Amino acid sequence: MDFPSHFDVIVVGGGHAGTEAALAAARMGVKTLLLSHNIETLGQMSCNPAIGGIGKSHLVKEIDALDGAMGLATDKAGIQFRTLNSRKGPAVRATRAQADRILYKAAIRYQLENQENLWLFQQSAEDLIVEEGAARGVITQTGIRFNSKTVVLTAGTFLGGVIHVGLQNHAGGRAGDPPSIGLAEKLRALPFRVDRLKTGTPPRIDARSVDFSLMQAQPGDDITPVMSYMGNRAMHPRQIECFITHTNERTHDIIRRGMDRSPMYTGVIEGVGPRYCPSIEDKIVRFADKNSHQIFIEPEGLTTHELYPNGISTSLPFDVQIELVRSMKGMENAHIIRPGYAIEYDYFNPQDLKYSLETKHMPGLFFAGQINGTTGYEEAGAQGLLAGLNAALLSQDKEAWTPRRDEAYLGVLVDDLISMGTKEPYRMFTSRAEYRLILREDNADMRLTEKGRELGLVSDQRWAAFCKKREAIDLETQRLKSSWIMPNSSEAEAINPKLEAPITREYSLLDLLKRPSIEYADIAGLKNGLEEAIDEQVSEQVQIAVKYAGYISRQADDIERLRRQENTPLPEDLDYSSMEGLSNEVKQKLTQARPATLAAASRIQGITPAAVSLLLIHLKKRA
Ligand code: FAD
Repeated sequence: MDFPSHFDVIVVGGGHAGTEAALAAARMGVKTLLLSHNIETLGQMSCNPAIGGIGKSHLVKEIDALDGAMGLATDKAGIQFRTLNSRKGPAVRATRAQADRILYKAAIRYQLENQENLWLFQQSAEDLIVEEGAARGVITQTGIRFNSKTVVLTAGTFLGGVIHVGLQNHAGGRAGDPPSIGLAEKLRALPFRVDRLKTGTPPRIDARSVDFSLMQAQPGDDITPVMSYMGNRAMHPRQIECFITHTNERTHDIIRRGMDRSPMYTGVIEGVGPRYCPSIEDKIVRFADKNSHQIFIEPEGLTTHELYPNGISTSLPFDVQIELVRSMKGMENAHIIRPGYAIEYDYFNPQDLKYSLETKHMPGLFFAGQINGTTGYEEAGAQGLLAGLNAALLSQDKEAWTPRRDEAYLGVLVDDLISMGTKEPYRMFTSRAEYRLILREDNADMRLTEKGRELGLVSDQRWAAFCKKREAIDLETQRLKSSWIMPNSSEAEAINPKLEAPITREYSLLDLLKRPSIEYADIAGLKNGLEEAIDEQVSEQVQIAVKYAGYISRQADDIERLRRQENTPLPEDLDYSSMEGLSNEVKQKLTQARPATLAAASRIQGITPAAVSLLLIHLKKRA
């Protein structure tokens, strides 16, 4: 039979993890199959069609730096772009885009269909082919066997998925899609630790039934930020406004009255939900003293009237949903197009994974995305890319690669999941990273693209663009270093009004840029600045490197010191129980394990980098 049935990598599931996994494996040059329930739902955004946000855009840019799809798809589909935390430092600045759901899916589909080495196939995977304990392929619902060297499973919320609306529930992978019952049962029979989580989504509203004049308009940024290092503003479709309304006392009363039919509060749902994206009923209970919550009304696209009311995710019965929606300003006559619902699903304890995302119990089987206990497209996409890459490497008998915590948010994500596990849907925040000033969203390419190229992930086109950018940064930094402004010169006169006091000695442009009141734009044109306007990505890197040089080098020193000290021996008689600053759990684990070195301590489940730093301080005090 000509039909291809042997692959190096099979990816099950065409969501955000699966599409990045399949693309990454195929970019590595290995024969890859992406098997998903429905080709029409490849790259589907199950919840809000928004990409990025604090901590999350860092992951998108890292995916992009490794030539993944999410960033470019966002530039092609984003209908409102904003820079969050724009007044704060670069470490916590983040890009967020509201996407057109249809354009986003089309952009992902385009990349998949035009990727060499990648085959797409629409079927449900029902079972794994296992040989000598290792995953060696999958069997579909109609019994087709696909053999492979490795399998990446990215089934999202579909494993044992149960959808709840009020006290009614039914099996489903997400509204309108079937669950994966057969595969879930097969996996439950293996020695993985499985538990249940839940997530939810709000009812969607028909824009024609909404009075926007009663709401506050929320436009995007005038100068729209760009998500991909290979993207540009010209790619962005037409930009539109979002709106803001609020819940009120009446809304909260309606919700409280409906609680006796809430699956969450009557014990029907057992899975734990996302703490940082709670349902509206959760918010009313947890923040009982608040009499109003802000609700963002976000369009789902340019060619649809569907609106996403961000902030009222709910699994209350449908009649309560109608009442609560209509109690808000501007929504008095709102028509609900799709009811909100909650979904419970199986997830695997990520502590059963290696850092490559290969499972510890079954060689050749990788897990990525929501099934590892995370929530969010970005978290899923980042894991997918890593799992696809490592599956491809394994299929070539090559060593796995995972970035360290000081190299990428992706490293933080994987390390958090594997060292601590998770009991609730895990989402990324900048606060989870110790080395925020080094792991910025603006420099993900500087951190990762070279490594991506070495691994075989990065295309010639991106590599050429990256090298050009890196060279331009070096050249411009050199120019600033070697261009001097003399007192009383015409350049000094141009710059003096920006300074607290006029300059009285010669200054390099680089030294001037260190001054808080001076921006790159103020000095760009001085001393024969480049003839053509310098690329914004280049000037941004130059400016941040100069202005934050002190902090960045201090953080780099910390990383270096910690790395050097990893081999520091931990004396056998250390009394962990008396060490200040360590949690009881950490003290207990260290006392039990008695690791020989700091490196060994850092690998114990639940021993965070912060705990390792404290250990170091104690050792120094002892010395
Ligand atoms: P998914 O995007 O779910 O993709 C899974 C894919 O696998 C699907 O294409 C499916 O068809 C396919 N598949 C499954 N089983 C099989 C099989 N056996 N054979 C073949 N194909 C299979 N995230 C947030 O950040 N905030 C939120 O508020 C939020 N709310 C959500 C609400 C709902 C109702 C849902 C369903 C998800 C929500 N999410 C939210 C999560 C976000 O959608 C996911 O984290 C993200 O989509 C996970 O990506 P994934 O690739 O792991 O899985």
